[in-house]
Amino acid sequence: MPLEENHSRTAGLARCGRPAQAADHYRPPMPVDLHTHSTYSDGTESPAAVVGHAIQAGLTTVALTDHDGFEGLAEAASSARGRIGFIPGVELSVDWGGKAMHLLVYWVENVPGPLQDALAEIRQSRWDRNVEIVEALRAMGIAITLDEVLVEAGHGVIGRPHIAAVLCRHGAAETIADAFDRYLAAGRPAYRPRKRLSAADSVALARASGGVTSVAHPHSVADSASEYREVLEGAAALGFDGIECHYVEYPPGLRERLTAWAEDLGMVPTGGSDYHGAYKPGIAVGVGRGDLVVPDEVVDRLAERRHSA
Ligand code: AMP
Ligand code: ZN
Ligand code: FE
Ligand code: FE
Repeated sequence: MPLEENHSRTAGLARCGRPAQAADHYRPPMPVDLHTHSTYSDGTESPAAVVGHAIQAGLTTVALTDHDGFEGLAEAASSARGRIGFIPGVELSVDWGGKAMHLLVYWVENVPGPLQDALAEIRQSRWDRNVEIVEALRAMGIAITLDEVLVEAGHGVIGRPHIAAVLCRHGAAETIADAFDRYLAAGRPAYRPRKRLSAADSVALARASGGVTSVAHPHSVADSASEYREVLEGAAALGFDGIECHYVEYPPGLRERLTAWAEDLGMVPTGGSDYHGAYKPGIAVGVGRGDLVVPDEVVDRLAERRHSA
């Protein structure tokens, strides 16, 4: 069954539950989650398990958005079929004035295409960077090996959280977050940069591959209120479709402010839990830390952008 049919089927089911007295245009908001990771990048649960959590949480749609790769999408799609709407996605790292912006791209598949080709190169650069990080850590006297990182990652795209987990096992850090603070975050001693696509190229490649874009967790490239506004304006000018306003770590006031600005600029206010399983403890699919609600109308609005692209 095509993915859109799958989604509209579950949306239809959601509509069956409305109160009989409701006006025709009324549909109670149903929650969705448009940002999750599996073992195919730096999540600790399989795509099928992530989809299972989304169903348990009562979501109408879930997107899998592993970093830089598409390998988990087939498993997630087949697990979702007939049970929950599924959007195949990917999360890219793109250059934003020298900072790393994360960009979610929706409705991209594991098939040949311009974005897929560009990401093959990015994965090579990611691998070279991982080798450099391990060498830097070894030069600092921490005897971790690439083999341990490979075993930790299992399959799919290897990233710094896998290195962080190995550091914890060696007693060099207490938690994944601590490993980033001590060694792996930008500016820390074992940080090494990797190749990133330009923001403009990313949007063009995503479009050429049939995808719709949304800036992930804009705090990665903005600190102050005025910087958030600048990021939104810049992203709108470059043709990004959405921006992640309902982000797991944001307080209600920031979610509301970003949503108002997104609406102002004609962008879709997306959201998600950024679920990584055990690598980001305390975060659940759909509800995040308990207070996350991403309304399903966002999915329809993204889908409209897809067909008008
Ligand atoms: P990489 O893709 O290899 O550059 O690693 C980036 C990923 O590491 C992000 O997508 C997050 O999942 C995770 N990450 C980044 N910074 C931190 C941090 N300070 N604490 C914990 N995880 C982090
Ligand atoms: Zn991640
Ligand atoms: Fe991210
Ligand atoms: Fe993410």
